[in-house]
Amino acid sequence: MLLRHTTAEVRERTALTINPAKTCQPIGAMYAALGIHRCLPHSHGSQGCCAYHRSALSRHYREPVMAGTSSFTEGASVFGGQANLIQAIHHLFAIYDPEVIAIHTTCLSETIGDDIPQIIAKARDEGKVPPGRYVIHANTPSYVGSHVTGFANMVKAMVEYFATAEGPREKQINLIPGYVEPADMEEISRMVEELGIRAILFPDTSKVLNTPQTGRYTMYPPGGVRVADLKRLGHSLGTVALGPLASGPAARTLDTRCKVPCEILDLPLGLAATDRFIDTLRQIAGVAVPDSLTWERGRLLDVITDMHQYFFGRKVALAGDPDQLIPLTEFLVDIDMWPIHMVTGTPGKKFESRIRALTREVPHPVNVQAGGDLFLLHQWIKQEPVDLLIGNTYLKYIARDEDIPLVRFGFPILDRIGHIHFPTVGYRGGVRLLERILDALLDRQDRDAPEERFELVM
Ligand code: SF4
Repeated sequence: MLLRHTTAEVRERTALTINPAKTCQPIGAMYAALGIHRCLPHSHGSQGCCAYHRSALSRHYREPVMAGTSSFTEGASVFGGQANLIQAIHHLFAIYDPEVIAIHTTCLSETIGDDIPQIIAKARDEGKVPPGRYVIHANTPSYVGSHVTGFANMVKAMVEYFATAEGPREKQINLIPGYVEPADMEEISRMVEELGIRAILFPDTSKVLNTPQTGRYTMYPPGGVRVADLKRLGHSLGTVALGPLASGPAARTLDTRCKVPCEILDLPLGLAATDRFIDTLRQIAGVAVPDSLTWERGRLLDVITDMHQYFFGRKVALAGDPDQLIPLTEFLVDIDMWPIHMVTGTPGKKFESRIRALTREVPHPVNVQAGGDLFLLHQWIKQEPVDLLIGNTYLKYIARDEDIPLVRFGFPILDRIGHIHFPTVGYRGGVRLLERILDALLDRQDRDAPEERFELVM
């Protein structure tokens, strides 16, 4: 019983988080930065922060994640990190030859109050930024928000640094995929291509963090959005932003700066959210939905029909990012499961009101908290047990103590391999998600069945 001190009784806590349901802002910023081609993320803070951010990403994606650090020691911690950052910019361009350096701050440099735009300007004035190379930045203090906020801030920085309204309108749309796996970004691109739409996907970590084994190390893999495309964001007909928290700020900034109208949607997880995604693309680009996508949708419907008898009335507890949990909850309700406990570590009361609206027909009381933690989720489960857990690797402790099957979903997944290659977005991703949920439920049924009820055909 690793979590044997968790009590069923919930006491109000105002200044204590136990087992957070989030990670720190710079991790999201670093992940987003890797979605620019030939970009080297840079962590402006201590070496320890950078090592943590890199290892969190490397453990989830099972790929080497390169990043610079300003390597704060006592001097920089007291007097500020300007000298360290200017030297870092000089060395990174001279040694590693990136096209873009994407700086994110840390708790320490934010507390000191380092003025990053001023430091970048000074580095440029001193000739440390070669011609045709770029340095961008996002402020990512980790004592507010979460990795989702950090991702959103870095994507917004891409717009602020590169997008320009100058130039003719082009028959293309911008697509911000949200905080999803590289395989999800690939799947989103594939669906857009099926619709015959030209799109700029940014950021794009496919072919960066899901590369093949070739026997040779490549510092800058072939994937990532090109700088030339980021400069054309302001020329597009519109922007579709997936995930209000992760993608909304960049889309709104693009609208304000370049008058590119935006639609901010849920991530296309499950049937209804994917329908909304496809329909929005169809309307913006003025195209018809091809038979191939209608066929994929029909397959998902068929799978739901076949599996429904096993899903009905099963209680589920979820933890993860708001952008993922909202459409996932909608999907679970659509297949007649009962999501009854939901926490996200990312703050924001909108999450709670959306979940309440989506679950109002669930015939069971529902617990939901933004800015919550896994301790609270565990307490709720002790009061009202569930049939299934869905969330990241940290839920395995609750799964073990309470003997509940766990479907690993979200970030980070540190104890399984291969998940980054299988999308969960779109109709195809929906089939995969349902297969994993049903496998978890039926594996448990097999394990617990007495011999006389152990069935070959289920
Ligand atoms: S000190 Fe702040 S930025 Fe650094 S690892 Fe910890 S939470 Fe993240």
